[in-house]
Amino acid sequence: MPNQPMIVDAKQPWSGLVKRGQVLTIKDTHGQQAVDFLCYNADNTADRYSATNTVKVQGNVYVGNGTVLYADSGKPLLTVIEDTAGRHDTIYGCCSNPNNKLRYDVETTESCYTNFTQELQKYGMDVTSIVPNVNWFMSVPVLGDGSAGVAEAALKPGSYVKLRAECNVLAVLSNCPQMHNPCNGYDPTPIEVWID
Ligand SMILES: [Zn+2]
Repeated sequence: MPNQPMIVDAKQPWSGLVKRGQVLTIKDTHGQQAVDFLCYNADNTADRYSATNTVKVQGNVYVGNGTVLYADSGKPLLTVIEDTAGRHDTIYGCCSNPNNKLRYDVETTESCYTNFTQELQKYGMDVTSIVPNVNWFMSVPVLGDGSAGVAEAALKPGSYVKLRAECNVLAVLSNCPQMHNPCNGYDPTPIEVWID
């Protein structure tokens, strides 16, 4: 029976166990909201999402419908089985105090790195489990000369992705609090997640 959608408030983290064969849906309820996302083999959390394996296997830097998210070991963790947004990032990583300082010369206390750290503690995990992540609903176009940057995604409210678990997966996400680039339209909003 499908579970009820859970609302993840603006700027907050969330995590959950997605059992093999279950589907995790992440919905950008209000539009233009980046969702930073990590995933692990729940039966061996040392085996983490690998952006590089994912990019290399599919031969493309963007994540979208059909993308398999691989672990370090090469184990498939999740497959994108539906995607109404079209293109998501996995090269830009999450926001953190250090990279906000480097990029925008600001000191902040809210960041996806902090959210990840807080959420991972629930599972006895720490910052060593934070790896380059997927940024759902975030647009980072890579141009012919290699230049890249966060662009406005201009996604319609209600855009969603559905991810099928290929093994038991621990999913950890941060509803991004970033205010210094267009990834959240300068107005972080709640999202919805559910597992069925
Ligand atoms: Zn962020």
